[in-house]
Amino acid sequence: MNRNKTEKLSNAAQTKHNKSLVLQSVQAEDGIPMFEICNRTGLSTATVSRLVESLIKEQFLVEHEPIAVPKGRPMKSVFFNSKGFYMIGIDLGTTYIRGVLTDLSAEIIKEVEVVTESRKDPQYVLNKVIQVIHNLANTNLIDPAKIIGVGMAVPGIINHNTGIVEYSPAFNWRDIELKRFMEKGIPYPVYFDNVSRAMALGELTYGTGKSFNDLICINVGYGIGAGIVIGKQLFYGTDGMAGEFGHIPVAGDGKILCSCGKNNCLTAYASGDAIVQRARLRLNDFPLSVLNAIQSEDLDTKLVAEAAAEGDLLAQAVFNEAIEYLGMAIAGLMNIFNPQAIILGGGITLNGPIFWDKLKLVITENVFDHRSTKYQILPASHPGQTAMYGALALVFREIISLNLSLPK
Ligand SMILES: [Zn+2]
Repeated sequence: MNRNKTEKLSNAAQTKHNKSLVLQSVQAEDGIPMFEICNRTGLSTATVSRLVESLIKEQFLVEHEPIAVPKGRPMKSVFFNSKGFYMIGIDLGTTYIRGVLTDLSAEIIKEVEVVTESRKDPQYVLNKVIQVIHNLANTNLIDPAKIIGVGMAVPGIINHNTGIVEYSPAFNWRDIELKRFMEKGIPYPVYFDNVSRAMALGELTYGTGKSFNDLICINVGYGIGAGIVIGKQLFYGTDGMAGEFGHIPVAGDGKILCSCGKNNCLTAYASGDAIVQRARLRLNDFPLSVLNAIQSEDLDTKLVAEAAAEGDLLAQAVFNEAIEYLGMAIAGLMNIFNPQAIILGGGITLNGPIFWDKLKLVITENVFDHRSTKYQILPASHPGQTAMYGALALVFREIISLNLSLPK
């Protein structure tokens, strides 16, 4: 009897695995012909037909014939049922909490944005996120019962294995059980990850990253982080914390302390926060700089970048120095991982040629130069919304792997 039970369970696990393979095929090519699913999965036509039928019943997929039927047998193609379920994506930034309600194709149905007030306690901030989610779900455009999950991109050191925000310097949070807290306030499962890893997953699911197997997505904003993708899978490391690119040590003046308490981290040289702090430190050396006319507390990365673009010598010195450090560190990362592409997003990358031209030059000068080296340095696909698409991709990943509990 026990044996039968075990066999039954393993059959169920096998079916789930095969269904996930079918969903992965549709993810790779939305509108995929049935025979192509067989090719990609190695499953028989009969098995694929049965699994697709089941996934149609469960409202994940739809099947219809292409408009122009080629000669011969009509060929059915399989698509995601974009209106079958809905997702919510949350970009928990230090300035704004941005949320979107989308269909399964990540088409935005509703958007909400509120100020974060990041210095308030974690409960206050997370309750604000819960309000944003209620606001997004409270619409007559969809049936809220069909919302399948909430994805959250969160800055800081997040232990993927335990689901705990171990430390978020931007919020000054330590050991926050984010998933547990959130799920007490909303009727949907919550999937969250470090913003840089989420961004990498977003690129892989909805962006340029779709066409790569191995890529590294680097987030250069208030802090610096990376999401490493190997063979189309996010790399987490032993403790679920891989990608803390901002804390690799670089040799420098050590004048600024990183949020982790050390003073040789890349973040202390090349992050948005470091750029502002370093500009402040050198104001006296550049009495003619336009930055002297700005109140110290009003100085931000955008102002430094604008001044640099207009030829201000202090701003240029600080900005270029930051890019030097960043470019050299990226070259090191490329030598180790040999990725097809490096994709960069985050506020600092939105500064046009003064960022990109210099960065590409520094990388070219420092990366190991081998004849067969082929790589692309690319901007993130959804400027300003990269984290949001990352948050949605966290939910979508659970759909593809069929790891979520469906709405009743
Ligand atoms: Zn550090």
